[in-house]
Amino acid sequence: HAKKQGKDRYEIFEPELQATFQAGLQLEADLRRAVVRHEFELRYQPIVHLRTGEITGLEALIRWQHPERGVIPPLDFIPLAEETGMIVPIGEWVLREACRQAATWNARRDSQHPLSVSVNLSAVQLDQPNLPAVVASALANSGLPATSLIIELTESLLVDHRDSTLHQLEQIKKLGVRLAIDDFGTGYSSLAYLRRFPVDIIKIDKSFVDDVGDEPTAAALTMGIIQLGRALSLSTIAEGIEDKFQLTELTDGNCELGQGYYFAEPLTDIATDELLFPTGASS
Ligand code: C2E
Ligand code: MG
Ligand code: MG
Ligand code: MG
Repeated sequence: HAKKQGKDRYEIFEPELQATFQAGLQLEADLRRAVVRHEFELRYQPIVHLRTGEITGLEALIRWQHPERGVIPPLDFIPLAEETGMIVPIGEWVLREACRQAATWNARRDSQHPLSVSVNLSAVQLDQPNLPAVVASALANSGLPATSLIIELTESLLVDHRDSTLHQLEQIKKLGVRLAIDDFGTGYSSLAYLRRFPVDIIKIDKSFVDDVGDEPTAAALTMGIIQLGRALSLSTIAEGIEDKFQLTELTDGNCELGQGYYFAEPLTDIATDELLFPTGASS
């Protein structure tokens, strides 16, 4: 038993654990520096109308350009940024930069077909009382109409919500911003919060899309989610479409929108620019 084996308690100071602990501290120090030195970039993944192939929007996805380690993906630093509160300034930058960039692209496009931009929001940001004001400010400063901004929330964020969460989301909705549930179907009680929160869009998680072609249960669930969306007048976006077969299944199932490597991976701002406004003269 632990109490009797007093010595065992000191085994947490094993060299490997010590190294992990040091690496964590190093990452935190690096992240603080990254915020000050603006080492973040956004990638943009096209969201496509499945029947026509038309690009209707872009999802902004953060990357950390670490000076020694190269590009660090969000899942490797967002959790630490959330624990330390650094997600608040980082997330505000994402919001402002995505709105600025989308407004710039829309100014060069046919005004009848503006692109929407989707921004992922963390629960820690939603706990900030000034979040609706920050969103309003990002829109006003960029000139992006609120109807062109989509805020993505994960199911876990809504499941663990606080009393203030609903109020915060309603304030953001009042601006005219649309709300999407990300990774739909992976959390629990998915249906309950479709009643409670003012959601406009369901994003069908990649895990369903992955198996839509070869597993009857995944296919049935995917079609069920699409029909649920229709019944509630919500748009559905299929995440992680990687092949033609998945595209066909989803299109036949009347899924409206999709994104995935089959169309494009998340692109740098320069590559997005080239996709949206091809010069065709590069060779
Ligand atoms: P997400 O919002 O569900 O974003 C979709 C993820 O799936 C992205 O990973 C994207 O690159 C990847 N993906 C898209 N299409 C495909 C495909 O066809 N196949 C495969 N294998 N993957 C595909 P990424 O960029 O690494 O982002 C991971 C997660 O990090 C995001 O999941 C989101 O939850 C979070 N995240 C990204 N940017 C931000 C941000 O600015 N703020 C916050 N709070 N979270 C962010
Ligand atoms: Mg997302
Ligand atoms: Mg997702
Ligand atoms: Mg996902």
